[in-house]
This record gives sequence, structure tokens and C-alpha cells, in this order.
Amino acid sequence: MILTVTMNPSIDTRYTVDHLIVDDVNRVVPAKTAGGKGLNVSRVLVQLGDDIVATGLLGGHSGAYLGELMDADGITHRFTPIAGESRTCIALLHDGNQTELLESGPVVSAEELEAFVGNYTDLVSDASCVTLSGSLPKGVPADTYARLVAIAAEKNVPVLLDTSGAALDAALDAEVKPTLVKPNLTEINDLLGTSFTPDELSELQAALAADERFADIDWVVVSMGAAGSVAFHGGRVLRAKAPRIECVNATGSGDSTIAGFAHAIAAGADDEEVLRCGNTCGTLNAMDPQTGHLVMDKWDEIHSAVEISEL
Ligand code: ADP
Repeated sequence: MILTVTMNPSIDTRYTVDHLIVDDVNRVVPAKTAGGKGLNVSRVLVQLGDDIVATGLLGGHSGAYLGELMDADGITHRFTPIAGESRTCIALLHDGNQTELLESGPVVSAEELEAFVGNYTDLVSDASCVTLSGSLPKGVPADTYARLVAIAAEKNVPVLLDTSGAALDAALDAEVKPTLVKPNLTEINDLLGTSFTPDELSELQAALAADERFADIDWVVVSMGAAGSVAFHGGRVLRAKAPRIECVNATGSGDSTIAGFAHAIAAGADDEEVLRCGNTCGTLNAMDPQTGHLVMDKWDEIHSAVEISEL
């Protein structure tokens, strides 16, 4: 079973209007999905046919509704209940733009967090791979992902971490490292204080090699949107070039990439296949209008078109 963690899930609500009329009425029809990066990962894993359990923190009436949305998507879920209401995030598609209104979400108490850690520890025992995705809600200390990584490592379960800011800093500074991190180019440049482009991968390699925080991470994968990704793994540098496609909606491509990595790592795939699978999922998500959803009937075409080379 693959365990996905979403600490701050949300009812993702999309409204589409041709033109947004400011300071007047706009009539809309909502499209709602169970959101948060970890739930995007979960949806893609369900599409890939994996046995998964989604966990995290869920609260109030919106938490109950999120449970129904997960059921509808075929996602098995074992969330820890909290007192606060789970959040709603709104994406407004208008005039060729995407305007987002993101609630910060509930405040989590220390007792609720400990209940979650207990639930997580039980679930990890049956997991072949764990994904930790997204931001941490208020009240949850920045080193919580580092703690979850250590719990999984004790049971020899690989952990894929996709977060940013203080939560990523704490995980990189911890003694026990995640198996894989997947910053995008902007995030890695922020971390390193650099401004590398996809044409400066040997410079990126040198900067990562000189930075102790990455020393014990088995897979450091830097995703680069339409340019694909580059993986630093086992002393090798593997470049994956994404095939040229018509991009419909790349939101969730990073989450889909994580799902592809988890799918391949849990199946014991070789290094090239891990990278190919992640990139295939990222690209197939970009071809689909929905977030965290793959155009599965293009799987064979895209999977064989991803170019992997060793630098
Ligand atoms: P994030 O969503 O984390 O910022 P990226 O935008 O780097 O992640 O996308 C993750 C992966 O999805 C890329 O490495 C690539 O494989 C795929 N991808 C994203 N956008 C495109 C695109 N326009 N064309 C082809 N593949 C894409």
C-alpha cells in the first residue's frame, strides 16, 4: 500500500467565467474536488491502479464533505479528525487568467497532532512507500515532516517529500533524510540562492554537491516544467526530456510526478523507469484540464517519448 499524507486538505472549488465583472454579480457553477497536493497525488495513484491510503487531518462539516469527495474518487482514506473546519480554496478562471483565493485552514492543537502521528505510525507499518506533500497547517511545527520521515525510515519505508519553505528546510537539516525530494527549478534556486536555468545543469550539479543538506538524499529530482527534469541519484545525473505536447493545464503536474515516482519505487522499478514514470505522469497531467488527473489513453505514447540520458 502507498500512504499519501495531506496535512491541510481543502475543498478545491473552481469557478469559470468568460469575463469577471468586478464590483457586480457573476453567476457561476462550481466544480469541487478533494484538494491539497497529497490528494492530487492520491487521485493519480488511483488512476495508476495502486492500492493506496490517504491520511492527514480532517475537520468539521467541510472535512466530512471532503471524505465524500474522496469516496467518489475511489480514494481509501484514514484521516485523523480535528476540531477546526477544513479549508476551501477557490480558483477563478476568467479572461484567460487564474485568480486564486486560498484559505490558510484550521489551527491544529498539540493533542490533535499527536493523535495524527499515532495514526500515521500505525499506517506506515503496512506501507511500501510514503508521500508527504504540501504545506503544514497552523499549529503544526515546521519539523513535523522531518519527524514523519524518521518514523518511516525506522520501518525502512521510502519517503517522497514535496514541500517548500520552513518545512523543507527542517527536513533538509534533519539527521534522517527523505528518500526523494522534488523541488522545481524555482524552489531549488530559492534554496541555493542561485538562478540556474535548464541549460545550466552542470552548475546546478556542482552547487548541490557542495551543499551538505543534500548529501544523504537518495534522489534529488529538480522538475523544470516543459523542459522535463534532472535527477541526482547514486552519483549519476539523469536528464529526462519531456515530449512536446499541447499544455492544457499544468497545475498538479508536480504532484502527478510524485505519484509516478511513488508508483515506480513501490514496484521496485529501476532508476530509469522511476524517472520515466514520474515524467510521464507530469506530462499526462499537463494534457488534461483537471488538476491531478492523467490522460491515461496517451500513457504508452508519452511513456516511450520521454527521453532519458545520463549527463
Ligand atoms: P511543479 O508543478 O511542482 O512546479 P513542474 O511544473 O516542474 O512541477 O512539472 C512537473 C513535471 O510535469 C515536469 O518535470 C514535466 O515532466 C511535466 N510537465 C509539466 N509541464 C509540462 C509541459 N508543458 N509539457 C510537458 N511536460 C510538462
